[in-house]
Amino acid sequence: MIKKNFGLIGASGKMGKEISALLTEHNYDCVFRYDLSGEEFDNTPQVLIDFSLPEALEKSVGYSLKFNCPLIIGTTGLSNEQLIQLNQLGKKVAIVQSYNFSIGIQMLLKCTELLNNHLTDWDIEIEEIHHRFKKDKPSGTALMIKNVLNKDVNISSLRLGNVVGEHSVYFSGLGESLRITHQATSRRTFAEGVLKAVEFVQKKGNGFFTFHDVLFSK
Ligand code: NAD
Repeated sequence: MIKKNFGLIGASGKMGKEISALLTEHNYDCVFRYDLSGEEFDNTPQVLIDFSLPEALEKSVGYSLKFNCPLIIGTTGLSNEQLIQLNQLGKKVAIVQSYNFSIGIQMLLKCTELLNNHLTDWDIEIEEIHHRFKKDKPSGTALMIKNVLNKDVNISSLRLGNVVGEHSVYFSGLGESLRITHQATSRRTFAEGVLKAVEFVQKKGNGFFTFHDVLFSK
């Protein structure tokens, strides 16, 4: 079987290691690595994956153009200007950008939209819990939930121990309440989403896509 390959930005990080392990199990070779310790080039990657920090975005965009390859980006805390930059890059190569690569969060977003449409006079709050090392606050996923609600709702951010990621949306009326919660118990779940995106993006010439497109577009 011919091996496929990929490049990884944030290769030495928690997510970088998880993605690398899963893709290697699926017959992909890591041929390019970039992180705070520098660059390692073995070959031109067919697809680039960035799970690092917003500070690395300029480099990621530059590498994607240099290698003329698609970019899958899960880095959170991007500014509006950086998201616009990625949209622009999508005119030249294919991009999948998402602050969350788990299937469960896509389901939580759908449920949130439904409840928001029906419970118009209920109070709504978002809560997110992550490990103590997380740099951005609130989480990118909490911002995705807020975006679906399309309202100025409060987000509470807790930083506790080694929690991989937990998001809850609270809906409360007078006399009853409802809460939906998603818990990521392993980073492997995000890596599995990235693998789906890697397979999706290689069939696209260019364009800006989300993980929702990866899961649900025909
Ligand atoms: P980590 O701290 O363990 O790893 C960060 C990596 O980025 C390291 O390899 C580090 O060397 C590299 N890095 C940091 N600054 C850099 C810079 N200026 N230039 C180049 N490389 C740089 O973090 P992590 O837990 O692996 O998370 C990485 C990113 O992925 C974060 O933004 C996190 O929020 C995000 N994340 C996204 C999802 C998702 O589904 N979209 C899931 C989990 C984490």
